[in-house]
Amino acid sequence: MNLILFGPPAAGKGTQAKRLVDGRGMVQLSTGDMLRAAIASGSELGERVKGIIQRGDLVSDEIVIALIEERLPEAESAGGAIFDGFPRTVAQAEALDAMLKARGGQIDVVVRLKVNETELLERIAKRFADQGRPDDNPESYAVRLKAYNDQTAPLLPYYQTQGKLVEVDGMGAMDAVAAEIDQALKHA
Ligand code: AMP
Repeated sequence: MNLILFGPPAAGKGTQAKRLVDGRGMVQLSTGDMLRAAIASGSELGERVKGIIQRGDLVSDEIVIALIEERLPEAESAGGAIFDGFPRTVAQAEALDAMLKARGGQIDVVVRLKVNETELLERIAKRFADQGRPDDNPESYAVRLKAYNDQTAPLLPYYQTQGKLVEVDGMGAMDAVAAEIDQALKHA
């Protein structure tokens, strides 16, 4: 099964992805984690994306599509992928569909974690204080949220018309959200 965890930054996608990895042996494909690893390693790619990420802008479709493509065989062997933070644009979603189709696969379900903006701002302030991730600062987060609203939210109708979209209340405690996701996946 291939699943997309969908939602704005700080909606809880990473947390829920890790739980699904532990519970189901699926592979988490987080483009944000891959890009942060590239920055940490000091690679040429890392140097190229560092400033963009720090500002809160999206990196190019070409870069993230290539990162995902590289990891698809591993996800297939594991029995499925959890896409976390990808796709973020319509071009990425179309490329993902094409890559999966070429390998005889597809996206089975898109789980949207719904969290209101007040709660998101509270979570991000706490995460910034706890972890100090550079792009969690208030200015960068505002840019990230705008990128989500302008470029990523338009994917919702894309998946809804395909009948793949399931909405989950992401406002509750982690375990309550997890239980709702499990319920949604039973019907996927
Ligand atoms: P995330 O950890 O998913 O919030 O990603 C952190 C940052 O990495 C984002 O704010 C973007 O700058 C970049 N990024 C991650 N995934 C993507 C993507 N699918 N498309 C474009 N940029 C991305």
